[in-house]
Amino acid sequence: MPLAAMAEIVGPARAAGRGVGAFNVVGIEHAEAIVTGAEAARAPVVLQISENCAAYHGALEPITSACLAVARSAAVPVAVHLDHAASAELVRAAAGLGLRSVMYDASAWPYLANVRATADVTRWCHARGIWVEAELGEVGGKDGVHSPLARTDPNEAAGYASATGIDALAVAVGSSHAMLTRDAVLDLGLITRIRRAVGVPLVLHGSSGVPEADLAAAVRAGMTKINIATQLNKVFTAAVRRYLSADPAVVDPRRYGSAGRDAVAPEVARLLGIVSVGGASGGRRRG
Ligand SMILES: [Zn+2]
Repeated sequence: MPLAAMAEIVGPARAAGRGVGAFNVVGIEHAEAIVTGAEAARAPVVLQISENCAAYHGALEPITSACLAVARSAAVPVAVHLDHAASAELVRAAAGLGLRSVMYDASAWPYLANVRATADVTRWCHARGIWVEAELGEVGGKDGVHSPLARTDPNEAAGYASATGIDALAVAVGSSHAMLTRDAVLDLGLITRIRRAVGVPLVLHGSSGVPEADLAAAVRAGMTKINIATQLNKVFTAAVRRYLSADPAVVDPRRYGSAGRDAVAPEVARLLGIVSVGGASGGRRRG
């Protein structure tokens, strides 16, 4: 299947009130497991490469090329997305490598500087057919949408989306990054208000810390793209640790690598079953 455009995945999902699972890749095993899980769930999926992931591999190209190849051979629609790029330079590099979806994150900047920089990047991307997600900073919260205390104001979000021309907006509604516990409390009423005010799909970051029932509720309230990273890493690492402690003499990384990969795939299928069911008002359910 050819690489899917993010708009082809997120647009219909938003219209139908379904969520889209967007999973962060670390190595190629993650990409393979995420696609296998999506195929099992018969759901479209997003592979995400963060700036930190590119730094881990020493460059953006090796992991991007691997993800694009895995995506192109999938039996379900797969989009490959650059997650949390703080520099326009990285966005341009991603475009040069064939990525057609990016998150440009200027949320650390003051509001007007964020608007200006994001509008520039969005214009540049749209001229090349690239989909842009962005994030609105929160006064007093340096972690932007990832601060559990930060809250996106619906009116400000609407103004930001129209001033920048972005395709999707990451919002602060109670979740935070890299949580190992699942006790984040989402403000579902706020999600509904933002969904009504803002014309573009909404993105939930830090979903690994959200109780699963609340993830489904967040989708019903109007959230579309659900970013999940830490949960897959927990599952991958637990499986590798189990394998290594059961067989301390193992040497071949393929043995414990496949244990990790084989554990992540069904977890992806399970999570997609939770987020991609949908059922928001006006949405049509699909079997
Ligand atoms: Zn994030």
